[in-house]
Amino acid sequence: MTGGTQLTFHCPTCGESMAVNAPMREALLNHGCVVCGTPVPQSAFSAPEPNGDTEC
Ligand SMILES: [Zn+2]
Repeated sequence: MTGGTQLTFHCPTCGESMAVNAPMREALLNHGCVVCGTPVPQSAFSAPEPNGDTEC
């Protein structure tokens, strides 16, 4: 673990959902969804849901 920010990407077009870090988010914003190729908006990214495994 290198402490990268984890976000959840959810493609509004094809429904693909995956965990991404900041560089991956930038790549998706620049190149579009890796699955369907559709340009993705900033709103396609959100913080991951709490999963009962919180580190303090
Ligand atoms: Zn997609």
